[in-house]
Amino acid sequence: MLCVECAHPVSRLYTYYSQNNIRATTCTNCHKFADKYIECDSVLVGIDLVLLKPQAIRHVVFNVLAPKLPASRWVRSQTQKMMIVITLSDVYLQWAWSVKSEDPATVHFLSNTAPTVQYLCFLFYASLDTAIIHVVVRQMAYYWLHWTALGTLSTGIMLSTAAKLLPIGTLIWDYNMPIVNSIVWWIFGFVLLEHIAVVLNCGYVKATIIGVIALGIRWLVCSAAWSAVTSLATAIS
Ligand SMILES: [Zn+2]
Repeated sequence: MLCVECAHPVSRLYTYYSQNNIRATTCTNCHKFADKYIECDSVLVGIDLVLLKPQAIRHVVFNVLAPKLPASRWVRSQTQKMMIVITLSDVYLQWAWSVKSEDPATVHFLSNTAPTVQYLCFLFYASLDTAIIHVVVRQMAYYWLHWTALGTLSTGIMLSTAAKLLPIGTLIWDYNMPIVNSIVWWIFGFVLLEHIAVVLNCGYVKATIIGVIALGIRWLVCSAAWSAVTSLATAIS
């Protein structure tokens, strides 16, 4: 746990004296309440999270979802479940977008493979997409910034990947898909950089370097893997 204002570690967020006497902990570093969000409604926390307020990100990542072991490499089970839900939703979105795509390779793939094979291909793509971002950011944070709380970092990355689900409304209202796709990726990139900067507390220059390298490697690997998988699936079918 830490102070959401200055990221200084704290041993507890509040002290329970009795049912009517619970006192919020004051940070010894900045002398503000360590976590003002423990008294807030989850809706307000969610709004501040969408607004990318650093205090809200620290509250959710470090004081709500963080692993019990500070230096753990793994994430808690509820974070794993959220990762699975986000990945499966991303599969659905990518599949829905591809149906409206006019790219010849995509049209050829969809018209020559069974729906089950298509789903497995999109599942592979979304899983690889998520895995590359986590692996690259975690490795750079570990070897460059000597950050050992990798489970906490993955929790922050997981929150940022939720931004990829923003265009869920485009399945209801038919927008210009290529433009929406580009906007979503710019938003996701920005949200990812913000979460890396806040979680690692490393400043925007280092966060941008880590984020750009991760997104670049993700683009190269996923593009090559998608071409190979769709070609193989089409050939087998
Ligand atoms: Zn503080």
